[in-house]
Amino acid sequence: MQTNVDKKDKNTKLFLHLKKWLEKAVLDYSMIEEGDRILIGVSGGADSLALLDLLDSKMIFVPDFSFIAVNIDMGFDPTYQAYAVLEKYFQDNHYPYVMEKTDIGLKSHSDFNKKNPCFLCSRLRRKRIFEIADEKGCNKIAFAHHRDDIIETLLINMFYGREISTMMPNQSIFGGKLHIIRPLAYLQEELVKKYSSERQFPAVKNDCPTSKISKRVYVKNLLNELERDNKEIRDNIYKAMGHIKMDYLLMQKKI
Ligand code: SF4
Repeated sequence: MQTNVDKKDKNTKLFLHLKKWLEKAVLDYSMIEEGDRILIGVSGGADSLALLDLLDSKMIFVPDFSFIAVNIDMGFDPTYQAYAVLEKYFQDNHYPYVMEKTDIGLKSHSDFNKKNPCFLCSRLRRKRIFEIADEKGCNKIAFAHHRDDIIETLLINMFYGREISTMMPNQSIFGGKLHIIRPLAYLQEELVKKYSSERQFPAVKNDCPTSKISKRVYVKNLLNELERDNKEIRDNIYKAMGHIKMDYLLMQKKI
């Protein structure tokens, strides 16, 4: 496994394609401003390692910013050595980083939690990330949610949340004190994963027992199924989110 990445190998066709669309998303949604300090959430999965790598690239139009990589270990397997490999990767690349071991995953799957594990898990993880952002003086938090996550979230929110909404590429929170940004918002999951695998990033596998049976997995499989008949299905859903005919929706009332 490659941990010390040779930055000279970076300029592949795929890298240039991803970087072009990342920059476009960043500019379209004014995600990054001069002097921003960005906490990059690195779960250790392929997507987050690709995000870290892409944001650590020479940008043409994006203003200068600094960043810190933050990994929250959910504690599913305390003996899991992949986190040591991830830490070495941060060190080899001279990334400033925080790695924190927690019991968030276990707590979310224990009797202590009466709700869906994902609900508590995301809440606790997010809370800790906000605290670290504050401790480290970050005004933005970058998550590795890509175009496919945005599409799936729309369907999850409609199917289970009775609303039409999704993840915003640039979301202001705490009265504008902090922003959540999603620089991969234009990028397809397939290409992000391909890049991660080409670059042999030290991806940490997700040991969460819910990750195989979550609503997201259900919706992903459903979309794969629909895609067999219509290759454009994801693209159509994504474009529909930017083409809303308010006059052809229902009145805003509680139903
Ligand atoms: S799938 Fe597992 S790790 Fe992901 S949010 Fe749900 S409980 Fe947490």
